[in-house]
Amino acid sequence: MFDPLRNRYRLTCPEAGTEQDRPLSAFRSVERVAGTTHPAVYHVAYVCAICGDQHPTLMSEHDLDCGPVTPHGDITFVNVLTGRSERVADEFTDVAESHLRRGNWPWTFYCACEHEIRPGYPSHLARLEPADERLVGVAVRCACCSGMSINLVSQRHLDEPFYHDRTLRYVDRPLASGATSLERFTHELWSGAFDEERNRYAL
Ligand SMILES: [Zn+2]
Ligand SMILES: [Zn+2]
Repeated sequence: MFDPLRNRYRLTCPEAGTEQDRPLSAFRSVERVAGTTHPAVYHVAYVCAICGDQHPTLMSEHDLDCGPVTPHGDITFVNVLTGRSERVADEFTDVAESHLRRGNWPWTFYCACEHEIRPGYPSHLARLEPADERLVGVAVRCACCSGMSINLVSQRHLDEPFYHDRTLRYVDRPLASGATSLERFTHELWSGAFDEERNRYAL
């Protein structure tokens, strides 16, 4: 379940048994469960706001990728133009459709294989690692060519669908696929490739 007003996924802390709402930037890894297709299911690790640990959870592709864009739920708001209560989900679906008609995707990332900015999805974020209090390094699989790239984006770029950083920061060489390569992701993130970008962003 996704709360479109606060851009948060509803998750439960297994230690405390308490529900919480977490943004996409609190995720640390997203991995498809082998053999799942309809729906595809993903193993997600996220940082818990209640106990501070990382917890695993399972999410369907629909919850991950479509929930933020076409949310479900019966939350209503009062439309000041009509004075009537209307479903938030309907309003957000209309807004999302108008963005998509204009070619504005909910998420975009730079693909180092194709040297192009491509549409992205939460389910395609293999690894996420905070670079500082504002920026998050992501190893992201391209929705078009399946190549893996490293981008450095703001939390807002991840957490707010249809918001995009004015400048996308990236390592301009693909990350080879496979577990060994992903283990190198953190090293790459903290290598000299991003130092200049981090400094520029801090100004
Ligand atoms: Zn917890
Ligand atoms: Zn690509």
